[in-house]
Amino acid sequence: MTTRVLESSVAVACAASAAQHERLCPRQVLGVRIGIAAGQALGLTLPRDDKRLLLFAETDGCVLDGVTAATGCTVGHRTLRIVDYGRVAVTAVDVETEHAVRIAPRAGVRELAISLAGDALPRYYAQVEGYQQIPAHDLLRIEPVALTFDLAALLGHRGTRVDCTRCGEEVLNGREVYVGGGAVCPGCQGGAYYRSCAG
Ligand SMILES: [Zn+2]
Ligand SMILES: [Zn+2]
Repeated sequence: MTTRVLESSVAVACAASAAQHERLCPRQVLGVRIGIAAGQALGLTLPRDDKRLLLFAETDGCVLDGVTAATGCTVGHRTLRIVDYGRVAVTAVDVETEHAVRIAPRAGVRELAISLAGDALPRYYAQVEGYQQIPAHDLLRIEPVALTFDLAALLGHRGTRVDCTRCGEEVLNGREVYVGGGAVCPGCQGGAYYRSCAG
């Protein structure tokens, strides 16, 4: 029974992910499996329409369409953040309990998926099928983790805004720092990811 529910959740979320995408690709399926595993590991029902489940994704791309389809977490809802390490992994946090788990595919799952699906399918489609079939324990490594930053500080300033005393732009959600008593946005404080080419 449990297995059937899990399979149907995978299928439903895969279909929802594919609807946002040109087609269902292997990484979307991995994202769906990671998202479902996150809910199960933290004891949270999915998909969510509240902000209790917060995800830190370690890459962007197709995998996140699958994660979003399974969990309901999005950048727009501020429940999905990207920490771009270039790894297909997600840390899921229950913001009420601060319990957190990091979920990543196990080494060798690509080959396992292809061998499960048999020789009839090209590798790409074998992965799409295989990633839906592999039991969660064999597909994913799920590790309890503790965050190394203050989650309350990250979440505690929702909705605030101040003007940066240097560029004059609004700074949202408490991301400003105070320099000489004035609010300064991180971009003006130094080390911005861009430089102006105007004038
Ligand atoms: Zn894709
Ligand atoms: Zn500024």
